[in-house]
Amino acid sequence: MAERHADLKQKRWDFLHKLPNYYAHEYDLLTVEDLDAKGLVELPGNSRNRAGAAWGTFLRMLEYKCDREGTYFVAVNPRGRVKECASCGVSADKPLWVREHSCPACGFEADRDANAA
Ligand SMILES: [Zn+2]
Repeated sequence: MAERHADLKQKRWDFLHKLPNYYAHEYDLLTVEDLDAKGLVELPGNSRNRAGAAWGTFLRMLEYKCDREGTYFVAVNPRGRVKECASCGVSADKPLWVREHSCPACGFEADRDANAA
């Protein structure tokens, strides 16, 4: 069991180095959700799996490697992003099942996730 945990730990570190390194090297700008990783772990239920995903470490590694490679790193507050029009900034409520963004002010249309991004 100890060997399995050690193997998993090594694979996690390998992943936490390689993927941020790839992104920082390949792109000029990376924007991520300003994720409250500590708050995620403190939520009730299945916190061990969320802790195992090491989101906080991943984001710190990504920021560090972006700084090293000269890549812009921006953490975006996600609050209200889904409602906000990417074209004009007008906010419009829509239920979760509506997957398309259609702005009532400027007519901009896009996939809901693409608009939020
Ligand atoms: Zn709009």
